[in-house]
Amino acid sequence: MTGDLCVAGIGPGSEGYITADAQAALDAADLIVGYKVYINLLKDRYPGKEMYSTGMGDEVARCEYALDKAYEGRKVAVVCSGDPGVYGMASLILELDSRDREDRDGEVDITIIPGVTAALSGAAILGSPIGSDFAVISLSTALTPWEEIAVRIKAAAEGDFSIVLYNPVSRVRPDTLRQALDIIGAVTGRERVAGYVKNIGRDGEEHKITTLGGLYSEDLDMFTTVYIGNKDTKSIGGRMITGRKYIK
Ligand code: SAH
Repeated sequence: MTGDLCVAGIGPGSEGYITADAQAALDAADLIVGYKVYINLLKDRYPGKEMYSTGMGDEVARCEYALDKAYEGRKVAVVCSGDPGVYGMASLILELDSRDREDRDGEVDITIIPGVTAALSGAAILGSPIGSDFAVISLSTALTPWEEIAVRIKAAAEGDFSIVLYNPVSRVRPDTLRQALDIIGAVTGRERVAGYVKNIGRDGEEHKITTLGGLYSEDLDMFTTVYIGNKDTKSIGGRMITGRKYIK
């Protein structure tokens, strides 16, 4: 029996950011699997469609469930916010499948459907903060030790990348953003143009352009994406702009 599993990014939250391919995959699926916050967003749109959700921290069990169902011959869509390959479930699904495939009966076609990641949708709200080379770094220590994250942050600052920070703070690690700003600021100084967007494409969307030093006093949470400019980034007329030097 051949099943079907797609891992689809649904963008930051608003319907307009769901790509046509992701939409088609959700329409075609007979089972949608995901983190409960995203499944709740989709429930109203697909009344009657079978959904399976678990909370944060249950990712492995959730993906194993999705693969089990696909190997039973079902058409499964695993949904992730933003892009499924950016701190999402695409790699986990592929790793679990290559680990277990030999022990399973049947076949499953696995497709990864890209989505608009937070770095891109948030950038559009601020203006054009990542118009040149940029680095995306997650401050979550759930799966990566802080020491490794700190090395990457320093390297990005020393390389003069515009830096986008995902998972900037959480209840269990209220200090990671401040620690990251300390590392970047030691290289760049505190006047570097910076900004953030909260709840991109969702209720409560909010953004601000400030400086690296100004970020210390902002009340940011895990639904925030943070931007720190490179040496050429400007704040002009309420927009954060990292130009490509078309204009000298
Ligand atoms: N796969 C997702 C990222 C998951 S990691 C993507 O590609 O966007 C979760 C982090 O992404 C959050 O802590 C936050 O930093 C960022 N993020 C995701 N959605 C967001 C949104 N709607 N608004 C602001 N930040 C968001």
